Amino acid sequence: MKNNTHVPFLVIGSGIAGMSTALHLSKLGKVILCTKSKLISGSSPLAQGGIAGVINKNDSFESHIQDTMNAGRNTNNKKAVELLVHQAPEEIQFLENLGVRFEKDQHLEGGHSFPRVSNSKDISGKIIIETLAFNILANRNISIMENTELCKIDAQNKSISSRSNNTNNVNRIFAEYIIVATGGYSSLYQDSTSPKENMGDGISLCINAGIATKDLDKVQFHPTVLNKKRENKPQLLLTEAIRGFGAKIIDKNGKEIIDALQPRDIVSKAIYYEEKKQKSKNCVFLDARNIKNFSTKFPFIANILETEFALNAEKNLLPITFGAHYCMGGIKTNIWGETSTPDIYAVGECAHTGVHGNNRLASNSLLEGLVFARQIAKSISNKIKNKNKKYSENRIYKENKNETVYDESEEKYAQYNSEFLETIKNSLSQYLSIEENKIKKLENIQIVQKIFKDLEKNNYKLSYRNKNILTLVQRLAKDAENNV
Ligand SMILES: Cc1cc2nc3c(=O)[nH]c(=O)nc-3n(C[C@H](O)[C@H](O)[C@H](O)COP(=O)(O)OP(=O)(O)OC[C@H]3O[C@@H](n4cnc5c(N)ncnc54)[C@H](O)[C@@H]3O)c2cc1C
Repeated sequence: MKNNTHVPFLVIGSGIAGMSTALHLSKLGKVILCTKSKLISGSSPLAQGGIAGVINKNDSFESHIQDTMNAGRNTNNKKAVELLVHQAPEEIQFLENLGVRFEKDQHLEGGHSFPRVSNSKDISGKIIIETLAFNILANRNISIMENTELCKIDAQNKSISSRSNNTNNVNRIFAEYIIVATGGYSSLYQDSTSPKENMGDGISLCINAGIATKDLDKVQFHPTVLNKKRENKPQLLLTEAIRGFGAKIIDKNGKEIIDALQPRDIVSKAIYYEEKKQKSKNCVFLDARNIKNFSTKFPFIANILETEFALNAEKNLLPITFGAHYCMGGIKTNIWGETSTPDIYAVGECAHTGVHGNNRLASNSLLEGLVFARQIAKSISNKIKNKNKKYSENRIYKENKNETVYDESEEKYAQYNSEFLETIKNSLSQYLSIEENKIKKLENIQIVQKIFKDLEKNNYKLSYRNKNILTLVQRLAKDAENNV
């Protein structure tokens, strides 16, 4: 059954980007915040290290800008970086005003030349997101729709179709402004730190709606992911801050293979080549045995290591590998969060502002969510003022004969086909992770393009979810080819 709802502001996704956008927009009018699973979901609550920002008088904006540009290999959008860095202190204050309590001392993390990461030990994301959720729940202008999955964007009529994961009912929501905040797609790789809901839904649905994307091949691999799988949970991330406290990255003979405080892409590459040399995934370790009181500094990580894996970081070496962690690519936006389609915005990890360049600096992405959420609210507020645009609940729906309507009959085929998902994960991990040799890279791209083409030929067997994933990875392979 299809119900129609009308609202001025529709935000899809309830990570840090979606929640902070909803809070800002609630000052302008009614907001619907819809999310695929629970209000607290996505990567945001899993963030360990914290949020970067210059708040110490011995630190400087220039230094944070330089570190961000260095990590991104100077391919960043400089305007976006300057905005991010200059806005950071206000965003940290914004969180504190909402109720977040940070530790007294900021952390040092890989790629930063000053300890500038505001943190709540190793559960920074959980503390921030619970505080945002508390404020969202208390806000009368925000209606929350949990278990509501975005399944189609109609750019022409500025509406979406969503599906209730409880009842399977399909709802159509019309909005004056649509904000996509659905996170990244790192969970499409074999080794990943991201929750399973991060499959890039918003990005593939934007592609289907004709909205521009950019650089989907730019995926960041985190170098210190515990090399042990967990049932129904993402792999355990061993935060950068552990290296900030002096942990080393060593091979099986105890030899340091790289300066552990180098940016992520460099450390991940070192691990990739060591694994290749040793023809094994079990040959690199994080040595944190020199860190006194590890469990006081990193209580969350210490507890999981001990209870799930019988490991004690003060005594045991921790087996690590690199895993897909963050997506630099996404829905193309300007620094106001505007996509190629008027009044449809994107924010957070699903968006590509160019702020991270080729490689994101640690702890810059929670910040990204906050900074660009505020930009979107400013942009919309200006539009409303300038055009004196009035919201009308009685908008006439323009029937579009060519429109591909979301087909409810596909619901019974809606499950992710596990064999299909394995093929995608294996292809991306084996052929499109870290490889610098251009000839090898091109060979790999051709291999995956053939695999994806074969999957496409079987299109009729694929559920709409699988088709969306295929749309995304095909665009990713194309971007990889263009960027070689
Ligand atoms: C383990 C880990 C540790 C990290 N540590 C840090 C850190 O210390 N500092 C830092 O800056 N960054 C860190 N990051 C990165 C950072 O957490 C993310 O980049 C950031 O939280 C992304 O926020 P977001 O709001 O864009 O997306 P997310 O937080 O991923 O939220 C996406 C939301 O969209 C919803 N959604 C998805 N698809 C649909 C759909 N079809 N319909 C409706 N809703 C949908 C999801 O349910 C979720 O609510 C870490 C990431 C991970 C995985």
